[in-house]
Amino acid sequence: MARAEWYAEGLRFECTLCGNCCSGPPGYVLVTDEEAAAIAARLGLSVAAFLREYTRQTPQGRSLNERQTEAGMDCVFLDRSTVAGKAVCSLYEERPLQCRTFPWWPENLRDRRGWERLGRMCEGVNRGPTVPIVEIRVQRDAQRAATGDGGPSR
Ligand code: SF4
Repeated sequence: MARAEWYAEGLRFECTLCGNCCSGPPGYVLVTDEEAAAIAARLGLSVAAFLREYTRQTPQGRSLNERQTEAGMDCVFLDRSTVAGKAVCSLYEERPLQCRTFPWWPENLRDRRGWERLGRMCEGVNRGPTVPIVEIRVQRDAQRAATGDGGPSR
């Protein structure tokens, strides 16, 4: 029988739009072909133009580009200017799965220590209402299916 998750009672999480998960040290924001097509359509670009201008090939697959800011290497679609003091995703509706499933990546949920460690980077950890286990599982398993485990990069 599978062991119950240590977070079976759910976990508290509420994003503050600090932008830390979309910045910091260099990393990857992986995009599938389907996601690239959706983002290109949103930007009014051909897929080829989108890939050329906004992505790069990495050892893990194709990633959105980054740009150096005072905060670190921001995702190229992170917008720090529209809302004062906040960092918002300018692609929000079309953001890649890796972003949709954060912070519920398997690597962040392995044990409580990993979750607390994530809280040193992500202000949303242990803040706000409890997210129920059923919702966490959906995101965690989607990320696991996409990556084989969930160990992306930021
Ligand atoms: S680091 Fe956490 S609180 Fe900050 S933007 Fe990312 S998810 Fe939201």
